[in-house]
Amino acid sequence: MSILFKLIVLFILIYMLIPFVITRVWGMGVAVRGRAGRQIALTFDDGPDPLYTPRLLDLLQKKGIKATFFVLGSKAERYPELIKRIYLEGHQIGIHNYTHLPNWLMSPRHIREKHVGRTADVIERITGERPTFYRPPWGILNIGDLFTLRKTYHIVLWSIMARDWGKERKKKPLKERILSRLEPGSIIVLHDSGDTFGAVPDAPGRMIADLEEALGDARIQGYVFVRTDELLRQAHGARNELSDGLRVG
Ligand SMILES: [Zn+2]
Repeated sequence: MSILFKLIVLFILIYMLIPFVITRVWGMGVAVRGRAGRQIALTFDDGPDPLYTPRLLDLLQKKGIKATFFVLGSKAERYPELIKRIYLEGHQIGIHNYTHLPNWLMSPRHIREKHVGRTADVIERITGERPTFYRPPWGILNIGDLFTLRKTYHIVLWSIMARDWGKERKKKPLKERILSRLEPGSIIVLHDSGDTFGAVPDAPGRMIADLEEALGDARIQGYVFVRTDELLRQAHGARNELSDGLRVG
């Protein structure tokens, strides 16, 4: 084995795999769920989208539900009126990088400045409020992110990944995929845009229709939908407690 090969393996291990085990397997350093009563949080990634985000907002408004949107800075810049609407309707806005690039391929400094900070600037310019919650694309962090980003941002992953972006409904419909795994404190990830690599363009249309059914059933089971910041505030108080010790559900 050449020395170069060994170095590459070592780099992948330290830069990618260790943070993956810490955050995704152990659920440390990030929030994946809250512990509050029967509260749960809906989160929507990859938007805003000019077609689907307004439809989703209409649904949430009709049902009186507040959610969290992890938006891309580049799209927020292109559709400021959607960001404004999300904000004015009482939803939480979080950051999902400037463009949908995995953190494994970028340096911590580049991510902090050109993706997270830049997106926070864009959102602050539109709403007047600087976002403090961050979810990396695909939930992927590098080892540096765990040190640099956590100083400023709450890093939020999820406990229920409903796989809403795919081509056809899997064996179980989306509604069941969400409801069968719901528990107090669940953070559910869905997508209000279908133009991310690997997604089907019209998937959000189906997601919105299926979600409408799931919302009613979840409420019958006594669940209350809240924003992620509220969910985690209820679970704990202080920021450090908030980002430490929340386990994968
Ligand atoms: Zn994403």
